[in-house]
Formats: sequence, C-alpha cells, structure tokens
Amino acid sequence: MPVTIFTAKRIITMNPANPYGTAVAVREGRVLGVGSIEELSGWGEHTVDDTFADLVLLPGFVEAHSHGAAGAMWAMPYVGYFDRTAPDGTVWSGCRSIAEVVSRLQSIEAEMSAGGVDDSDPLVAWGLDPIYFSDERMYAHHLDDVSTVRPVYIQHASFHLATVNTALLISELITSDLQTPGVDLGSDGEPNGELQERPAMALATRATAKLYGAMETDEALWAYGHVARNAGHTTIADMGGGQLPDERVAQWRRVVDHPEFPARASVTVSTNRAGPLGRLDLAGRAAELREESSDKLRFGVVKITLDGSIQGFTARISSPYYYDPPPGHPGNGMWLIAPDQMAELVLSYHRLGLTIHCHCNGDEATEVFIDAVEQALEEHPRWDHRHTVQHCQLTTESQYRRMKALGMCANIFSNHMFYWGDQHRDLTVGPERARGMDACATALRLGVPFSIHSDAAVTPLGHLHVAWCAVNRMTASGDVLGEHERISVAQALHAITLGAAWQLKMDHEIGSIEAGKFADFAVLHDDPLEVDPMKLKDIGVWGTVLGGTPRSSSAS
Ligand SMILES: [Zn+2]
Repeated sequence: MPVTIFTAKRIITMNPANPYGTAVAVREGRVLGVGSIEELSGWGEHTVDDTFADLVLLPGFVEAHSHGAAGAMWAMPYVGYFDRTAPDGTVWSGCRSIAEVVSRLQSIEAEMSAGGVDDSDPLVAWGLDPIYFSDERMYAHHLDDVSTVRPVYIQHASFHLATVNTALLISELITSDLQTPGVDLGSDGEPNGELQERPAMALATRATAKLYGAMETDEALWAYGHVARNAGHTTIADMGGGQLPDERVAQWRRVVDHPEFPARASVTVSTNRAGPLGRLDLAGRAAELREESSDKLRFGVVKITLDGSIQGFTARISSPYYYDPPPGHPGNGMWLIAPDQMAELVLSYHRLGLTIHCHCNGDEATEVFIDAVEQALEEHPRWDHRHTVQHCQLTTESQYRRMKALGMCANIFSNHMFYWGDQHRDLTVGPERARGMDACATALRLGVPFSIHSDAAVTPLGHLHVAWCAVNRMTASGDVLGEHERISVAQALHAITLGAAWQLKMDHEIGSIEAGKFADFAVLHDDPLEVDPMKLKDIGVWGTVLGGTPRSSSAS
C-alpha cells in the first residue's frame, strides 16, 4: 500500500505525547506517524508531498454543533447585519438598518415579479436580527413596504423567530383570536408580524415549507461540505436532523459517503421537527440508526431543544430574569418541552445508550436538563454517557459543578461574545451576567470537558473565529466582555479539535494527528500558537486533508 509523507512548516498534533512535527506519514487514509522525514522513512517506500511545506497543519477542526442549514440557507437571500460569505465565495454585505433590509427585499421582490413568479409564492429570506436596530424593532408594517400582496417571511439569525408581512398574516389566517403561543401582539392587540418559536412559525405554512424544502436538497448538503472545507473543518454535525426518515438517511448517505464530499458528519435525531413518530418513539429510531454509521457518516447522538434564544428573549433564564426586554414581554422565555416531561424523555434516550445533547441557552433550562440527567442516572446508572449541555450560555458555576459530578459535557456558544455580546450587556441579561456568559474558563477550572461552537448557520461556520471569541471575548463594538472567562489559544485549539471529538464519541478516531487516527488535517497559512491572539480569526485557510486526500478551498 502506498505511503505518502506530507511535509509542513509545522504540524501541531494535539497529541500531548508528540505535540509537534514537520512531517506526517499517511497510508490508506490513516496516520502512520508524525515526526521528521527521516523517522517516517522507516515506513518503507513512499512519496513525499511538499504541497504544505510552507503551511501549518492542525487536526481537522471538529464542529459538534452546526446545522446543514449552513449550506442550505444560501438558496435564499441573506438580510443579516454582518457581512457574510456564501459557499461559492460571494460576499453578501450586511444590512445595517431596517431601511437596508427593506430595500434588499424590494429588489428581490421586483425580480420575482418580473420573472413571473406567482404573487402567492412567498419571498423567504434569512439572517435578520431586529435586536441590532436599536431605534425601533422591525415588524410587519415595515415589510409591507416590500409587498402588500406577496407573503414575505424572514427567518431570524437565531432560527427561533421570524418576522412576516401583513399579506402573510392575512393569507395564513394569523389573527389575535389564535391561542398559539408565540404569535406576538402589538399595542393594538393584533399580531405585529413577529412569530416566536416553532409552533408560531409553523403557522406560516407555505413559507416554512419552502424553507425546509430548500434544506433537504443534495445541493444544500454539498454546499455545507464546501463551507466546512473552506474553514478547515473535517467533521461537522447536523444538530437538528428531525426524525430522519429513511429517504433523508439515504440522502445523507448518498452525499456524505460520496468520495468527493469533503467532510465527515454526525447527524442527530432531534425533537424539533414534526414527523410521524412521537417524541418518546424517537429513542428507538436513534438507536436503530447507529447501525447505519460509516467512516464518514455517524448516527447515535440525539438532540433535545428545551428553550429558546436569549437575543430573541425566548430563552428560559432564572431570577432576576431579562434586563431590558421589549415592551409587552411576558417576563421569561418559552419552554419548547414541558420541564416535567424532561425526565421521561431523557431516560428514554439514556437507557438505550445514546448520547443526549440538549439545547439550553438559559440557565433555568440548564437546571432542568441537569435534573433530568441526574434522575436518569439514578434509575439507570451508566458511565461515560457524555450527555452535553448545548450552548450553555448562562450556565452558572454551581451548575458546572453538578455537570462535573454527573459526567456531563458543555458545548459553549463562544461566538455569541462577538455577534451579540453588546446586546447581552445592554439589553438581554445586563452587564454582570453578560460577563459570565459562555464561561469557558469556569468549565476548564472545574474540569468539565468542553468544546466551543458556531451553531452555523446561526453564525458562520469557522472555528478560528469561534476560538478567537473564546480567547479574546471581544464584542462587535470592541468591548472585552468578561476578561476572567478568557482561555488561552492552546486551550481553545483543544476545544475545537479533541474537545468536540469527545462529545461526538469520535475522539479515538479524530481530533488529533497521531498514529492510527484518520488523516484529517486543517491546513493553515499561519501558526495559531505564534500569531497575535487577536489575529487568530484572520489566519488564512488553505483547505483541509480528509482521509489523506488534500481538499483545497479554491476547488468548487
Ligand atoms: Zn443549533
């Protein structure tokens, strides 16, 4: 079998016994060893590949909380606040005001009309977050300037809320008579166009069908793989796979197992999508899917969504609650699963040996999940379960201590520091709690295994930025928010490689460059341990190596 030795300026292996090298030998997609060319020549006949001679290799980045939507959403127009790069390299400029959002949507509406698209076909866009527009909140009446005939639906950046126009409210019969939670009402007592969380968003039947239809194409999954490769990721997740019917599993398999698809993927069964199975039946589905796993495609992780979004004011937080919420806010967020049903749901997954990842943005949600795990462990003791608090944004020190005692992990949404840190300090939770958000240093000090994540497409997939946030905790306005929760670059690199691999139960195969593991590398133009930590996010990414095969980010 042919042996290839890749040379590099430096290889950072994340293997503590053999941390650095300048060459790595690969055979049949796996690492033979890291060291010098002379040492590795002992593996016999080989070819030397100098493509990376001036570049730096790290273990391929592992994203344990992202979504296929990171590829899919680009089939729809982007109206978010920050500039964002599409999988094909196109940069969409950010919309910095309500007027800019409306103007972008007006030109798209004009194109749809000129192209003969029927007026009943909704305009669906994504990426909005009205919390950035400090002078006023965006509602239906603003979107009526886009069209008074065609339904307009904008998925917020958080994916937990949407804003729609009056034509959509009328065509979908969304009125103040509905008892559906999350249909936000204005001061006149009528729906104002904001739909909060899935039961309310699902009322926009045609728009959400169009949105989910776009997510379930082969092209969307391929785009997701390209986004991953371009950012140095070799393993990605789909943390909201829904019920994963056979045809969806076949689609993941068709795409990810294709030899050209540039990443491994861990796909969850999740509670957040409708389907033929009841929530308690999902445990059996998740367990049987483990048999479908391959080298590149993994099943066996389940995802529960327990509360909403902090910046959408729908996360469940404990006293003293929200700092400066919008007028009419009910005082706390929304439960997406009734807290008193969590123990039974968690036990149903736990007893089948599955790893449970639970979305908890607020600390009240974290508490409910920890309680449920504790109860499950009392009833069905199990070691090394790696149940993980996802997002973990307001998790308190006492909760981290309980998580440590129960063998739980944290996947911390560090990117929030940049994207919403200013808003958390000024509006959602106030200065003190904002300084303690996404508390990587506390997790580290208390020995809770943790990783950090982008939740792409909520924020862009890209672990150098995610790590930069955990290291610098700098907000979009340049404020350092919570200096005591900063971690070092080396600690952040661990979180985005082995830390994330551990939570996916893949750390014996990926997450470090060492003998026997998959030859999955991130190929960088600079050394993250040498550059100014403030420049971490600006390091260029050449691409990746997946299973020994180079994947340049310039390839289509
Ligand atoms: Zn998510």
